[in-house]
Amino acid sequence: MKRAYNFNAGPAALPLEVLQQAQEQFVEYEGAGMSIMEMSHRSGLFEQVNNEAQALMRELLSIPDNYRVLFLQGGASQQFAMIPMNLIQEGRPAAYVHTGNWAGKAIKEAKLIGETVIAASTESDDFKRMPSLSEIDVPEQASYLHLTSNETIGGTQFAAFPDTGNVPLVADMSSDILSRPIDVSKFGLIYAGAQKNLGPSGVTVVIIRDDLVERSPKSIPAIFRYETHAKNNSLYNTPPSFSVYMVGLVLKWIKSKGGVAQIDQYNRDKTKLIYDAIDQSGGFYRGVAQPDSRSAMNITFRIHSEELEKLFVKESEQQGFSGLKGHRDVGGLRASTYNAVPLESCKALVEFMADFQKRHG
Ligand code: PMP
Repeated sequence: MKRAYNFNAGPAALPLEVLQQAQEQFVEYEGAGMSIMEMSHRSGLFEQVNNEAQALMRELLSIPDNYRVLFLQGGASQQFAMIPMNLIQEGRPAAYVHTGNWAGKAIKEAKLIGETVIAASTESDDFKRMPSLSEIDVPEQASYLHLTSNETIGGTQFAAFPDTGNVPLVADMSSDILSRPIDVSKFGLIYAGAQKNLGPSGVTVVIIRDDLVERSPKSIPAIFRYETHAKNNSLYNTPPSFSVYMVGLVLKWIKSKGGVAQIDQYNRDKTKLIYDAIDQSGGFYRGVAQPDSRSAMNITFRIHSEELEKLFVKESEQQGFSGLKGHRDVGGLRASTYNAVPLESCKALVEFMADFQKRHG
């Protein structure tokens, strides 16, 4: 089999080594006489898988002791609802930074639960940039400040995070978690759907500070309370056991590559190739995001005609590429270069871009 040059936005490329290891262990896990999917989530073997994945998250992100790592279901979209349900306090609005499609969805859900305020918005710039830290107005009384560290559709990414003092900073890191070092102690809560940088879909990682776990009001259903999952080591109900196992393998793979700092450097080398190709194309390709807000994970770009964009996608697919069509809400082109996308795929893309321009420029 020839592996595709996989630039999908999510679910996305997984490391081949991880897939091969899962294949080896697929039918029988560790001499158990059954696969991971067939064993009890209360078994010692699964408990080990669960604990090991948590421990690796802690190690790779240097998560302080006063934080819990939870593996939940419902995707990042469920977190859009759970965060306001658990964290909005009486008389204290939830503050949101509006930076595009995903931030917008989080805001829409929060509005159903309680009072929200917009701490900053880049809507007037068509979400082509992230706000500067000084543009973000954090109300002192806010229950929390929510931001989206990387906008998967727009292709913008925060280069640094605001200091929010006593207001807990909450971040949707679905599309850039573990792609670069972060200082977890700056955040009250971090969440991410697994299906981009962490593993297959089905599991969502939540990193939450102890004092915020305790905020969960008793009035909301047990399944939606962080406290329930924290108390039960993410085993309150049946977890997505195979996805958690896969996340563990991906985390081991990241560790084997030297950890997050090394992955960050690798990602920068990959994205530089593609952004350079865009910038040096004499205007044939145009980057969507403003240069200082460019994402290292989702590279969004355009060609002057939609016809040519369609042809670009079609020809790329014929040549073994996958996932280069932009999100249906915004059109254009997008290359998602998550951790597991090899440098070789990016080199192949840059060659294809040059060749396409030669033929159609
Ligand atoms: N936030 C961001 C930044 C995303 O990219 C996505 C998915 N593409 C989501 C939230 C929604 O995630 P899910 O599909 O896991 O609910």
